[in-house]
Amino acid sequence: MNKEELKQAFERFTDNNDFNLNPDREHIGFILNGLIENEKKFGLKLCPCRLRDGTIERDFELICPCNFKTQETWKTKGMCWCGLFVKK
Ligand code: SF4
Repeated sequence: MNKEELKQAFERFTDNNDFNLNPDREHIGFILNGLIENEKKFGLKLCPCRLRDGTIERDFELICPCNFKTQETWKTKGMCWCGLFVKK
């Protein structure tokens, strides 16, 4: 999956009342590149902003999209940890 396909997939994911993809295209391009690189390296679209510890449990926590609405950055900044998704 290339960056544009991944962006389209996440745009479909944001068909809801709560959040959108960040409108900053440069920023999301950086994040999408990280996701693509992680998928090439590890076989999973792992969050590019947080560290793996080599365990499958940690990898499951890092699969994008994660449970970003439970994160402090969602409550305080209105965005997921990486800023890929932002509140509407
Ligand atoms: S913090 Fe954002 S980019 Fe990272 S896994 Fe969660 S939703 Fe994806």
